Amino acid sequence: MRILIAEDDPVSSLVLARALEKLGHDVTPTADGESAWAAFANSEFPLVISDWMMPELDGLGLCRRIRSAPTDSYPFFVVLTAKSQRNDHLAALEAGADDFLAKPLDAADLQARLRTVERILGWQAQLQEVNKSLLESSREIAEKAAEISRMRDEANYMASHDPLTDLLNRRAWMACAEGAAPSALAIYDIDFFKSVNDRYGHPGGDEVLRAVAQRIDSYAGDSANVGRIGGEEFGVLWHTELHRAQQLAHDIVTGVEASPIRLADGTDVDVSVSGGFAPWLAPVDDAGLGMDRNYEVADRALYHAKATGRRRLEVHRSA
Ligand SMILES: [Mg+2]
Repeated sequence: MRILIAEDDPVSSLVLARALEKLGHDVTPTADGESAWAAFANSEFPLVISDWMMPELDGLGLCRRIRSAPTDSYPFFVVLTAKSQRNDHLAALEAGADDFLAKPLDAADLQARLRTVERILGWQAQLQEVNKSLLESSREIAEKAAEISRMRDEANYMASHDPLTDLLNRRAWMACAEGAAPSALAIYDIDFFKSVNDRYGHPGGDEVLRAVAQRIDSYAGDSANVGRIGGEEFGVLWHTELHRAQQLAHDIVTGVEASPIRLADGTDVDVSVSGGFAPWLAPVDDAGLGMDRNYEVADRALYHAKATGRRRLEVHRSA
């Protein structure tokens, strides 16, 4: 154990240092309180044995200073003194001392005290270990919590999005109209999608779906909620002014067919969509019917677009 000695009497200091060295300790002797303090501040000593009466900074002054210094572990402080009055002991304890050694030094007494010190320092080390593992555990718990929260976010995302196109799924898209009423909605359907699947297989069909989804999403503008609401069917809700929404709805039809979609194998596929557009109609009786009713109106417009040549947007005109 590294032990710091503060003792102004050279003989007494030597006797103590020898005795401690004989017991296998690593001793740093200092001749007064100030130099003991300097040594303590520079290095770590689990045990300080200090004379009480010293010039300048005495033993209790040194003890108070050590106690008020921030340290990682608690240094054990033993006061070396000829004083044996009860009041003196109380004053030393008050200053932060842990134990006393009577002068003149008794070897058996010293050894017994050191055993106590070592036992207490052993407990302290164990406590530090426990503290460390508690800290580690709480860090692990925090990491687990963060992971769970990440997984929950991912699950929420998966529950509301279409895995193929990354657009909102039907349920999540429908729910977008629940808050503030949109200004308009449109439903789009890829023309002759069955023949795309027949010609290019399902992987090719999936590529087309992804590309069309991307085009619809980019032409729909920032204020739109875009969802994949069926196999090759997409829905758009707008929250912008009606005339702007209608313009964007047209842009989608022309934007999708503006250039062929290139598949991974290099094949170019010409694709178009038909769309049904409807200004959002405020619910007449039951507010809950808003989405269903508006969906139906847009769907009917889509049907007309399909029946009248496809590759076009049918706009529902309210009477
Ligand atoms: Mg002295």
